[in-house]
Amino acid sequence: MTDRMSRRFADLATTEVERLDDRSVLLLPVGAVEQHGPHLPLATDLLLVDAVCDAVVAARGDELDLWRLPSLAYGRSIEHVSSAGTLTLSTSTLLTVLDELAAGVAATPARRLALVNGHGGNTPALLAAARDLRLRHGLLTFVLRPFAAPGPSEGAEREAGLGLHAGHVETSLMLHTRPDLVRMELAEREIPRQGFAGEASFGGRVAFGWLSQDLTDSGVVGDPTGATADEGAKLFDRIVGRLGDDLADVRAFAFPPRAGEQR
Ligand SMILES: [Zn+2]
Repeated sequence: MTDRMSRRFADLATTEVERLDDRSVLLLPVGAVEQHGPHLPLATDLLLVDAVCDAVVAARGDELDLWRLPSLAYGRSIEHVSSAGTLTLSTSTLLTVLDELAAGVAATPARRLALVNGHGGNTPALLAAARDLRLRHGLLTFVLRPFAAPGPSEGAEREAGLGLHAGHVETSLMLHTRPDLVRMELAEREIPRQGFAGEASFGGRVAFGWLSQDLTDSGVVGDPTGATADEGAKLFDRIVGRLGDDLADVRAFAFPPRAGEQR
């Protein structure tokens, strides 16, 4: 490998794409541009998913043969359209964009496409895409959610499981990665009362459609007021470490042989 090897897919020349192989892992970070309350920037999810992907590629890129695709900045943020600045794709547009990008990936020697999600509202569409892309393009497709349940944190416990948006974790991560964009003097706590109706509550068996204006006046669902850069640094390291382990699993992944199949 030469010094100019950056592990950014789009830095390759067309003649260099052949160095990818069927165990190379292509990362597509998927972000969002949407309201994150008065104290965080619209690009919070994009900035954070970019930062963790850069860090994991720097740490384990050579070992795992990781290649970072340019991020998809926009996601599916329809739950936040009532707030100024939210720029969303519809579900069908997002699925079409992923399908068309995957066609290009399938034309390279690479076969492993990891969708690295930075925004919870993207998850249902990415899960649907993973199966669609497997069928249409024969790729091995994965959805990685590095920010899901990032582990124990005192501040997050105070949110009683409702730190859904612009709360303790996201605010701490932003204080660690982009403190210049955080306005802590504007951070406010807003946690909806639990127990909507038995199982028809967050975490219950009955899911329900919700929009951010159903839950919050400020746009925040959680408690960002105790967020700190120290906490953000700890969370960031844990998230990047775990994402590296998840990508090692992606690299090792194979469907087991079916009964009667000779291997
Ligand atoms: Zn977010």
